[in-house]
Amino acid sequence: MMRPPRIALGAFMLESNGHAPPATRAEFEAACWLEGKALAADLARPAPRAPTALTGFMRAMDAGRAWVPVPLLAAGAGASGPMEQEVFDDLLHRMEDGLRAAMPVDGVFLSLHGAASATVEVDPDGVLLARVRAVVGPEVPVIATLDLHANVSRAMVDHADVLIAFVTNPHVDMAERGAEAAAAVRAMLGGMRPRSGFVKLPMIPPATSQNTDAGPYADAIAFGRGFLDHEVMNVSISSGFSLGDTPKNGLSVVVTTRTDAARAQAVAEEIARFIWSSRGRWTARLLPLAEAVQRARHAGADPHAAPLLFADVADNPGGGGRGNTVWILEAFHAAGVQGAVLGVFNDPELAAEAHLLGPDARFTAHFNRVETNHFSHSFVAEAEVIALHDGRIVGRRGIYAGREVDMGPMALLRIGGLRVAVATQRRQLCEPAMLEALGIDIAQVRSLVVKSRGHFRAGFDEHFTPDRILEVDVPGLTTVVLDRVPWRAVPRPIWPLDPGMEWAP
Ligand SMILES: [Zn+2]
Repeated sequence: MMRPPRIALGAFMLESNGHAPPATRAEFEAACWLEGKALAADLARPAPRAPTALTGFMRAMDAGRAWVPVPLLAAGAGASGPMEQEVFDDLLHRMEDGLRAAMPVDGVFLSLHGAASATVEVDPDGVLLARVRAVVGPEVPVIATLDLHANVSRAMVDHADVLIAFVTNPHVDMAERGAEAAAAVRAMLGGMRPRSGFVKLPMIPPATSQNTDAGPYADAIAFGRGFLDHEVMNVSISSGFSLGDTPKNGLSVVVTTRTDAARAQAVAEEIARFIWSSRGRWTARLLPLAEAVQRARHAGADPHAAPLLFADVADNPGGGGRGNTVWILEAFHAAGVQGAVLGVFNDPELAAEAHLLGPDARFTAHFNRVETNHFSHSFVAEAEVIALHDGRIVGRRGIYAGREVDMGPMALLRIGGLRVAVATQRRQLCEPAMLEALGIDIAQVRSLVVKSRGHFRAGFDEHFTPDRILEVDVPGLTTVVLDRVPWRAVPRPIWPLDPGMEWAP
């Protein structure tokens, strides 16, 4: 009888904004840094911290023949700046040592984001896959899932057998993609030797043009998936994370076939041509702040007006934003807007002060008293503490559904006609439980201002249909107005920064 296959498991989830402060070990520890037995224990919990692609992979493997999971290390910090180099080096060594100690393994599965950078290394995902490949050798399957915003490099494609990117934005198919990876592992254990084609387009579309329910990205994905057949097993179109600002920035197409390398490359090129010809449709449409104020005033004053959701897309913690800019807060407060909820502001000092003062306390709230980022100026206003929470949330919709998220101590402050949610950890407001924990009934909110680029759409779809969502133009680290970004490292020419450029795969 053959022994059950031993599959090594790991995760490395970081989206690095090249203009945000470096990602520290503390950030990983507050979100997810689980090794060996601690990772195994987490994966056995009903609401794990480990990424959903990993739990989806495990569930699919469990549904098949016997196998032996070998958990190595799961590290994730969401989105931040480039990772401190020594933290990445440590992660790499731990992953490598764990894998070496686990040998022989019959396969490796990694849940990767694909848009990490470190303060020195520009392609940590590629380096990690290369090290894993060096330990296991050329014959052992190495399969990874990627975020839809991955900035895919040639090294990533070369050192993995199969790369499987999310297909949905907001991301709600992580478990499905993990299951697809499990099927690929099983097929490779049965003797399949897949081949990949890869095209990188010189294209960094604005983040708000990348939703997959409708529009150019939906069309690109539908076109790509039209090639799936008995030979083409996966088509991954990764729009990329433009603000990474690295040499590997750009939209990419990875096509995996069961046997045929030439077909994989030909299909990748055909999809790339289709996307390039549609590039003019990948544009951002933003609402000026003054108009947002008018719309919010109206929503607050007229009980028959439709409630509105305003997205602060330029200060999205899910893209490396600080989650604390006050442009919209200041403007709504000055205009006397009523019935609005804004959040979640990342301000550990303010959250701690509210917890110290306790419920019903009135005080002068000072936002950003220690923040140094130039987009995040301070804001001072009279406030009342109306709710407190320890910040341990279990997501119920969208990207955090079924996962534990630690916001750190949270507070809800009343400031004039506004209620403002403040947290200790930097997280995007994409999950209704983040507000419900503070006693907010979202159905009663007249205007909701979320610090999030797009994942809120899957969390707040119960109350805000797309026609009630407005993307507001204010300054910030995650602006989608790409002309405002002080680019350093993206390859040039690149669309849309160099609109007249010519290109063919
Ligand atoms: Zn993403």
